[in-house]
Formats: sequence, C-alpha cells, structure tokens
Amino acid sequence: MITLKGKGVSVGIATGKLLFIDRSKFVPERKAITDVAGELQRFAHASKTAQDQLSKLAEEMKEKLGEEHAALFEVHSMMLADTDFTDPIRKIISEEVVCAEYATLRASTVLAQEFADLEDEYMSARAADVRDVAKRVIAVLSGAPVDPTSGPEQVILATDDFTPSETAQFDRSKVLALVSQAGAANSHTAIFARTMNIPAIIGLGASLSAGLSGLPVAVDGEGGELYVEPDADVVARLQEKAAKIKGERAQLEQYRGKPTVTKSGKKIKLYANIGSAKDADSAVNNDAEGVGLFRSEFLYLGRDDYPDEMVQFESYKTVAERLNGKLVVIRTLDIGADKQADYFKLPHEENPALGMRAIRICLTRKDLFKTQLRALYRASAFGNVAIMFPMISSVKELLQAKTITAEVRAELTEKNIKFNPDTPIGIMVETPASAIISDQLAREADFFSIGTNDLTQYTLAVDRQNESISEFVDTHHEAILRLIQMTVDNAHKAGIWAGICGSLGADPTLTQRFVDMGIDELSVEPSAILRLRSRINEMA
Ligand code: PEP
Ligand code: MG
Repeated sequence: MITLKGKGVSVGIATGKLLFIDRSKFVPERKAITDVAGELQRFAHASKTAQDQLSKLAEEMKEKLGEEHAALFEVHSMMLADTDFTDPIRKIISEEVVCAEYATLRASTVLAQEFADLEDEYMSARAADVRDVAKRVIAVLSGAPVDPTSGPEQVILATDDFTPSETAQFDRSKVLALVSQAGAANSHTAIFARTMNIPAIIGLGASLSAGLSGLPVAVDGEGGELYVEPDADVVARLQEKAAKIKGERAQLEQYRGKPTVTKSGKKIKLYANIGSAKDADSAVNNDAEGVGLFRSEFLYLGRDDYPDEMVQFESYKTVAERLNGKLVVIRTLDIGADKQADYFKLPHEENPALGMRAIRICLTRKDLFKTQLRALYRASAFGNVAIMFPMISSVKELLQAKTITAEVRAELTEKNIKFNPDTPIGIMVETPASAIISDQLAREADFFSIGTNDLTQYTLAVDRQNESISEFVDTHHEAILRLIQMTVDNAHKAGIWAGICGSLGADPTLTQRFVDMGIDELSVEPSAILRLRSRINEMA
C-alpha cells in the first residue's frame, strides 16, 4: 500500500479504480519511423475506430436528444472519410517518415487554420470541428480515452489539474472521486466536486502519476489521503468513517422542510450554487430554498462553439421550472481567467485573472451578451428568475450592462415574446472596488451577492489557482470581513438584500459572524445546505 497526502476539498469516502488522464499523450512529438506502410495502416485503423466511435455517439445522441444533436457527430464522421482531411496526413507520414500522431496534428493544424481564415462565419467555425476530429484520432492512436468517463465503469479520476471545460464534459454518474497533482482550494475542481457531492483531493504532487492507472485506490476527501492498493485495516477504517458520514447526514434529515431561522427569529435565505441544469435536481433534493448562483459559463465550456439562444433558454427554463417558483439567480457569462473555451479566441494574457474576463467580455462583445440576455429573459416567463452580473468594479459598467438589458427587453416586447419585465438585476461583489463603492452600486442594483473566492484573490493579491502560496491565503483576513460588512451595510441602507455565494458562505466557523453582520442570504453547494441550516437553527 502507498499513501499519498494532499488537501481534502470535498468530504466523502470512495473506493474504486484510478484512471489517470495523461495529457502528455495528447501532444504528439515528431517521432521518426521505419515502416511507412505499417504507419499508414495504423493511421487507417485509428481513423476507422474514430469513425465507429462517432457513429455510436451519433446514435446515442439521436436517441437521447433527437436528430439535430446527432448531426455534429455525423459531420465529424464524414470528415474522416474525406480525402481533404486524410490525404495531407498520409503525405506527411510518407514523405517525412514520421509517426501518425504527429502527422495528424500538423496536417489538421494547417487545415483548421484554412477554415478559420474564411470570411463566412459558418465555414470559419468548422475549424473547431477539424481540431476535434484530429484530437479524437490522436487519442485513438496513443491509446488515451477521449472522454475518460465514456467507458462502462465508474472511476476515480486523476490528472495534473482538472480544467473547468473537462469537468463540464464528464458523465457524472461515472465519477466516484476527483484527485489531482495540483489545484487550489477554491479552484473549480473543488467547487465542481462539492456540487456533485463526491470526494476530492488536490495537491497530491507528482507521486500521483500515470503509473497508478488501473490500480485500486481509496479516497478520503476529509483527511486528504489517497491510498493506493489499500490494505484491509485502511479499508475497514474508511468503511467506519463512511458509515459515520452517512450517520451524520441522516441526522441532518430532521432539518429538511424546516425554515432557516435563528432562535431569536432572524431568517436567512439558504440557497444553492449550481453549474448546470442537471444540478437543479441536487439543489431541490438537498432542500435549497432557491438557487443563489447558477454559474452559466459552464454551458459554454467543453464545447466547440457558442451555445445558441435556444440551448441556453432550454437550460435556464429547466432550472426555473425545476425550482418551481423559488428564486433562481442566474449569473451571466463569467468566462476568461481559469475558465477558457478555445472558440472565444481570447488573446493570451500575462495576467488573465486581471484581464479580459466576465462582464468585460460581455460589454465588448455585445452580440454574445444579448444572446444570453434574450435566453435569460425568455426563461423568466417560466419561473422566478433573477439576473446577476459578475466582476463589476464600477457604476459605469453596471449602467452599461443595464442599458443592454433594457435594449433586449425592448426587442422582446416588440416581438411579442413573453418575459418578466420586473426580473431583478443584481451584481456579484467580488472586487474590492465594488465593495468599497457598494453604496453607489446599491442604488443601481436589486441585490448583492458577495463572491468571496474572487474577493479574497483580489483583496489579498493571492492567485486562487496557485497552490504554492496557500500559506499566504487567510480566508478569514480582517480586510475581507470588513469588506463584507461594508457591503451588507450599504445594501441595507439602500433597501436591498445582500448574500454570499463564494465558498466562505459555507464555512461553519464564520456562520455566526455572518449572521451578526446582518447577511440575508447564503448560497452554498447543495450538499452543505442541511448542515448549515442545522447550525443556523441552533444559534441564539
Ligand atoms: C466567487 O468568486 O466567489 C464566485 C462565487 O464566483 P466563481 O467562484 O465562479 O468565480
Ligand atoms: Mg468569481
């Protein structure tokens, strides 16, 4: 047995087979070969396997979601049968006597660029298809799975660090736990795992390696230990721990359906953070009183092109209907920084967290913003929806964003499309600037939701993705608590509510302090709701 120690970021016990996603396999190197005919054969074989995978996917999609969703996979499959795609690859293998992985990468990069340069928007978007198909062929050639959760078995997924776009693609029913070499406590890996209520450990270091793939492991998401080939003693101890966790969860059941109120009568709205329409079930099943943060950007991640208005509308409507009249706060696109999607073609930046992200993208790419706002307003006719802007740092930005929402409302009215014209518009307070001018912002917003993950990053100048500085991250720093107090006070002076939707909202050691500060709402991962309600209901 080997024991690896990291940082537990999502509580729970899991045992199963480890599957390491080896990224090095996805970046093929130029390798000389000796047998050209054999290599051409290998390419033809991989190409056929990829085609089979795509046909199967198309069929599955047709069954689950209908004809139109299957079309993309059919196009990809056709591409593999097209000599425009395959000939340049075969040529590089034959003339340069190099491996098929490298030839596929090089030829597809050239072809993708040719598409990207085309004027026609539809054709230029095909560049992403070329890259996707090439990635699939390279994955087949190198023996790596395209989607690690596409196999029949449930797995404990491991890698260097999970990207938000990867987690958006996982088949959640197949993931037992997440473990990573790197990662920071407030990274989206941790947030994703907590939302899914599966154990997660980050910061396990390089000892967590591809060599462990296929081995049985046990994960303790509380203690932060990963046991490789656990012995009988460890298994017995973990089983005991799992039973204890289960017992504690059962205890909390008495709080289901109860209001969240202190003994002295102070009511707190206890809402859930979600990242997709699928998570709405989790919010409801954990007895959330509403959704305080729907991270809409996950709709944009793990795909090759922008989600259109219809796709977005369906997702927002599903959540609004599932919550059955309870408030659903949908945050507009917060892409950029650690949440990247290639098709946005965001420029490389030295400091992406301080760069083109969130509301800055929406204000500079108005069409994109308007598509999302149209979908949001249309969904407002089907439930109790509120709109929230991320990363606001000035009144000017908020006013600009509100002007665009007014344009969208006017367009919908003109087209006779149903929506709720009184949909509340709030902001995330997640920059020190917005907390400091919260008195001014409160005059223009219907509510505040404090994003302590980014507020901590920007106030303490600590990169939330950089685990090497974790010793300098004091989430209870007085500066942050004062900014929260200031925001709550300014909200109340203006007659609006203020809540917390960052991870600090679920920190039980601060609940009393937040209640004393006058916080109106806490929005946390669904699995933390009953625990937090029990805590608040026990307070004086
Ligand atoms: C935050 O910054 O606290 C927040 C809730 O948003 P995200 O974690 O998605 O950046
Ligand atoms: Mg944030």
